[in-house]
Amino acid sequence: MNDSYLNFVNSPLGARVARSLRWPLPEVLRRYRADTPEFDGIVAVGAGPSPQLLDALADVIAHIGMTSVAHAGASAWVPLANRHGLMTGRFEPADPAAHSQAGSQARVRALVFDASGIEDSAQLDTLYAFFHDALRSLDKCGRIVVLGRPPEACASPRQWTAQRALEGVTRSLGKEARRGITSNLIYVADGAKSGAKSGATSSAGNSNDAGIPSGIESTLRFFLSPRSAYVSGQVVRIGTAPSALGDDFDWTQPLAGQRAVVTGAARGIGAAIAHVLAAQGAHVTGIDVPAATDALDATMRQISGTALPFDIAAPETPAQIAAALDELGVDVFVHNAGITKDKTIAKMSEPAWRNVIDINLSAQERIDDALLEAGTLRDGGRIVCVSSIGGIAGNLGQTNYAASKAGVIGRVQSMAPHLAKRRITINAVAPGFIETQMTAKMPLAIREAGRRMNSMSQGGQPVDVAQTIAWLAHPGSAGITGQVVRVCGQSLIGA
Ligand code: NAD
Repeated sequence: MNDSYLNFVNSPLGARVARSLRWPLPEVLRRYRADTPEFDGIVAVGAGPSPQLLDALADVIAHIGMTSVAHAGASAWVPLANRHGLMTGRFEPADPAAHSQAGSQARVRALVFDASGIEDSAQLDTLYAFFHDALRSLDKCGRIVVLGRPPEACASPRQWTAQRALEGVTRSLGKEARRGITSNLIYVADGAKSGAKSGATSSAGNSNDAGIPSGIESTLRFFLSPRSAYVSGQVVRIGTAPSALGDDFDWTQPLAGQRAVVTGAARGIGAAIAHVLAAQGAHVTGIDVPAATDALDATMRQISGTALPFDIAAPETPAQIAAALDELGVDVFVHNAGITKDKTIAKMSEPAWRNVIDINLSAQERIDDALLEAGTLRDGGRIVCVSSIGGIAGNLGQTNYAASKAGVIGRVQSMAPHLAKRRITINAVAPGFIETQMTAKMPLAIREAGRRMNSMSQGGQPVDVAQTIAWLAHPGSAGITGQVVRVCGQSLIGA
């Protein structure tokens, strides 16, 4: 759907009016485009005491071809970056008074802070020093990434406390920065540093650390990329599950040779997921209700995919899906199909309650049971489920929908340990307000509130959800499971 307010305030006249009336000024978000370099510009690096992830960070920055500058607090960076063959220098704050880049450094695309060595709350001062100096140097639609250690794995209560404090800083930075800037926190388990196989050689000709079992590369790339335009205020944990990316891994086609299935693929978010997965190299099978066959066929034709016109809630469907996919198997299954039947609970009919729970939640369980039992979903595969911030925060008139979407969160949390034995990950994305036919049906006032009540002051696009799903489906994201990532522009709802 068209957001006419966003268009208006980004016109010369509209911008003047909005500024004088102090209206919110949503930025036109920089999104991934195949014809534009995904990574460019400068990363400013900051660090707390004894940072442990700088080497892995330098590896990724060298791979993606960005340049770097080091804040005074990250003195270890310059020699380390030189070893990785990275262009680097010292960080100099932008001069806010000059309104130009003369005399100070060009604006930076990203601020990355390695907080992994922080063991005591007093050491949080190092975050203050970096972001106090650097936040104003960050370009619009820039990226803030903080790297820490999972608090629950910390050796002492003080370290746990200090690492947990990172959530508050990172989320607040997203709210302060605005201008289309995202801010996210990645907790990296010890032993989950590099994305390529041990001993792999980077494009810059450097060796990765030996014996490192898993990766932060797919995740760092995602959070530094325009692909994560509408993902902010999130906390992601990367565990130590091994990923097996070869030296010749093609990061432009990460899903090459893989088979993906997307439910509800005829339109909206599902169609966008199908497009993004196909663009990353997957063969996509799209499922949608028989009544949507024409739209499903059209979407699948555009991406040379396969259409399966099935109602996911029909009792025979799980077996039919398994049979249709059996021979070739599936690497990625995306449970996207969902419906709403909104009414306050006193006015809601029993079929409306049952129908929503059945399509949005129970059908996912039945399908996964069938695919896992038949071995159709291959070992090392990925399941990604679409939840909603309604499932996190609850919503007036949506007891059925919120129950189903909260249930999806329970499903990924409870299934993850079981599926780990087969190296299958299961995660959920929880979209906030996304511009689709579902949200176009909302009353105007609620729609406008949904659009503006987030750090981006606008709704997301289906492609924002799709890109997030593609990151979770990535072969390098083996260390991420049982998690829920909101795609909500850092919505105030349920925050
Ligand atoms: P949409 O209504 O535009 O598309 C949903 C698709 O699912 C349709 O093609 C529909 O035919 C299909 N579908 C519905 N029931 C089905 C069934 N029984 N079997 C097979 N296919 C079925 O919705 P959307 O906005 O693209 O939403 C996609 C998902 O994202 C849903 O799970 C929704 O709950 C979730 N979501 C959307 C938003 C948003 O703002 N749009 C926010 C949070 C969550």
